[in-house]
Order: sequence, then C-alpha cells, then structure tokens
Amino acid sequence: MSLRVYNTLTREKELFEPVHPGRVGIYLCGPTVYKPPHIGHMVGPVIFDAIKRYLKYKGYEVMWVVNITDVEDKLIDASVKLNVPVEELASRYTHEYMECLSLLGVDGIDRFPKASEHIQEIIEMCTTLIEKDHAYAAEGNVYFDVSRDADYGKLSNRKVEQQESGLREVESSGKRNPSDFVLWKAAKPGEPTWDSPWGKGRPGWHIECSAMSMKYLGRTFDMHGGGMDLLFPHHENELAQSESTTDQPFARFWMHNGLTRIRTKSKSGEWADEKMSGSIGNVVSARDLIDRHGADMLRYFLLSTHYRRPIEFTDEALANARKGLAVFQRLFERLERITSKPFPTEGTDIERAAATMMETEQGPLVRSIIGFKMKFLEMMDDDFNTAGAIAVMHEMAGEINSFIEKNRIDREKQPEMIEAAMAATMTLRNIGGILGLFRQSAARPQAVESGLTDQLMKLLIQLRADARQQKNFAMADAVRKGLSEIGITLEDRPEGTIWRRE
Ligand SMILES: [Zn+2]
Repeated sequence: MSLRVYNTLTREKELFEPVHPGRVGIYLCGPTVYKPPHIGHMVGPVIFDAIKRYLKYKGYEVMWVVNITDVEDKLIDASVKLNVPVEELASRYTHEYMECLSLLGVDGIDRFPKASEHIQEIIEMCTTLIEKDHAYAAEGNVYFDVSRDADYGKLSNRKVEQQESGLREVESSGKRNPSDFVLWKAAKPGEPTWDSPWGKGRPGWHIECSAMSMKYLGRTFDMHGGGMDLLFPHHENELAQSESTTDQPFARFWMHNGLTRIRTKSKSGEWADEKMSGSIGNVVSARDLIDRHGADMLRYFLLSTHYRRPIEFTDEALANARKGLAVFQRLFERLERITSKPFPTEGTDIERAAATMMETEQGPLVRSIIGFKMKFLEMMDDDFNTAGAIAVMHEMAGEINSFIEKNRIDREKQPEMIEAAMAATMTLRNIGGILGLFRQSAARPQAVESGLTDQLMKLLIQLRADARQQKNFAMADAVRKGLSEIGITLEDRPEGTIWRRE
C-alpha cells in the first residue's frame, strides 16, 4: 500500500516518498505564546501526532519539530498591556501549551526550538538574502524584495497585486514596495532586542520558522504543516525566503489543517459558523475543554474529522463524539466481564491468531477483522483520513459485538470463542493506538484520569450500598440522581457497582 498525501503546493494528492529513504522530517508551525492555548492550537499537534504514529507504524524514522514563537508583535503587545516581562509571559504560556499537549497524548514532538534561541541563524539568513540581492536593509530594518522572486505566490496562488501584507505595516520605514515583508525589525523602545549588522533589532515572524526548520530538518524536508490561516502570508513568505536563500526546494509537502469553527446564533436567531480565533472572543480554552470532556475524548473528537476540513465545535458534535468513543469502551468492558480480567494493554493481534483459527468456527470473524484492518490502513494511506479510519473501527466493533451475541459467549465456556473475540478486540485497540487513542486503561479512563475521583466515587458507591442495606431507599436514590445530574451513571452488576461518565 502506498501513502498519498494532499499537497497544497500542487493542489493534488501525491505519492509520498521521503527526501531521504526511510526518514521523514516534519515541521509544524507552533504557537505564539502570548495567551493561554485555545483548542485551535491543539488541532495541528493532535493531527500530526497521529500522522507521526502512522509513519512510524509504516517503518519510517520520524523527526518532528514544532517551534515556539517567543519573539513576536502580539507577545510584545501583551507584555506591555499586562506589565509582565516578555520572557516571563512566554515561559508561562509555553508551560501551559506543553501541559495541554501532554494531557492530549501528543508525545511525538522531538524538538521545540524557540525563536529567541536562534537569532544567530536568522541573522545569517538575512545576510545571505541581502548578498544575493533578495533582500535590502533600510533604516535598521531588513525587507524581503518580493519583486526579485518570480515564484512568489505559488503556494497560496496569489498575485503580488492581491497582497495586503504591506498595508498592515504602514509604520515600516524604508520599504520599496508595499508587498515586501520584513525579515528584521529595527529596535523600538521597550522591546527585546539583539545586536545585528543593521543595528539593534529583532527578527520578523516569518523568518523565524525558516531558520529553525532548516536548522533541524535540512534545506529540503518532507512535510510542513500549519492551519489554513497560515497559508498566506506566513507560509508563502517562509517558502519565498527559504528557497531564495538555498536555491533548493524547501518543504516537499505543504499540509494545511482546517480551522476550528464554533456555531453561534446571530441576533436574528440564525446559526452561523465562525472561525475560532483569539480575536473573535469565542475561544474555547484547551485546558477547560480537557477538564470538561477528558483528554481521550477530545483527541477522538479532533480526529473524527478529516484534517483538511473545518472542525465544527458544537455541543451536539461533542455529544456524538462521546457516544462514539463509548462504543469502544463498552466493548472493552464487555471483554473484561467475559474474561474477569482487566483488558490488557498488549496482546495477540488477529494475524497471529489467524494461523490457528482460520479453519475453525472462528474463521469468518478472523477474516473479517483482517479485512477491516486493511481498510483502516487504506484510509490512513489516503491522505491520513482519520475520520474514515475511525468509521472502520466502528464497523469492527459492530462485528465483534455481533460475534459475541451470536455465539452467546460468556465467561464459563467456549475458550476458543473468547480467544477469537479477544484477538479481534485487541486488534481494534492496537489500530486505535496508531491514532493515539485508548491511551488510558481502556475500559475505565476516568479511574486513571484522577485517582482522587476514583476514590471519591468508591466512597459514594459504598454509601449508597449502605443506605440500601438499611432500606433507606430515598437516600440511595438521591445519590444516584445527584450523580446523574453531574453526568455520572451508576451501573449495578453482579460483581458490584461501576460508574462512568455519560
Ligand atoms: Zn511558522
């Protein structure tokens, strides 16, 4: 099976072949750390984390770099407004960003270079561009000369006349053309500055990403990712200045993820989609969402939409995702009841079981699960279609459930049937692992999420059991009802009462 990836540069799905055989380099534009991370900041990392896991599954060695923009206009503005030094603000929000990544299971990022630690590389790049006559210095600033780059606009398909980038920088002095963009900015009072051949100053935003990506991944690397909103001017400028510096192709595949959108009701009562961004004021804090919905569920939600499509943030969509994920959790629980053991984190995959089972009564299940696994891999090979891959996982769960029901499998008998159901479910769990799902104890993620919650729940379940024993049914019902109001369901089973979040 061969992997095809949509390339914004060519507007086509292309066969993926890495620059260096067996190795893949990925660069994803990271956050400007001037405010707490919102859910939009997590979309790219979650998607590329799944992409990296899949590439590793396919046998590639992957190097993934996400930058931290800690020198930028917005950060400096926020620092002035809050009267907090730039470094302190940047370090606070970098910490929060990392914390959210770690909660969401994004653990594949190999390097987090900071702009402030790569000033030397940035100055060298500016110097080269000036030497090659692709850039010019004026009044302490350095600008990229767009008129010298015949290719300019090839990524975003814009003509120079359509650009607005220059208009927002009216204060920039010495610019030859409005569409030229800044590589180095002359110092302003109160801003962080560094010495340079053009006097004290600081880098512009676009060049930071070029310098850091090429430093860690080489002049030409495989994948460059970011949100759709970065396509222009940020990525167009990155591409222009990088290729003008090296005379070599910069990123082979440009990959853009859809933006998070929130549905809002207008005054006239109509629903409208809005892009979610820091400025609109409808931003949902990543940390709040993780606390409210659980990290595994949020990860599942983000991967349930194909990465190039916008992610619609509505209560309904979140509720659907919760229901979707619960299907798998219930299946794992079902196997736990049948085997009277916690569902293992590792076990025999269906292919290994196939050798002994293919010619038995379990043969049809084995064949169909192998077929579903192939379909899952085909989905991932088709431009990392995680939404399609998750749909296949649901088909698989349905197949396993009906196998259990049809054969009336229970804990006492049919060890071969149980073994087949286990191997099928293990396969499901393993392919979910390629997407980074089911990281926590599969059946009861809530117990692992917080030891304290689990202890409190045990205490409440015991109190309710005591109340019932004393025939205080009003009290027992009040406990169940109260928990239900906060979204917790109790389920009485022969082996005891368990709880789950709705
Ligand atoms: Zn960038």
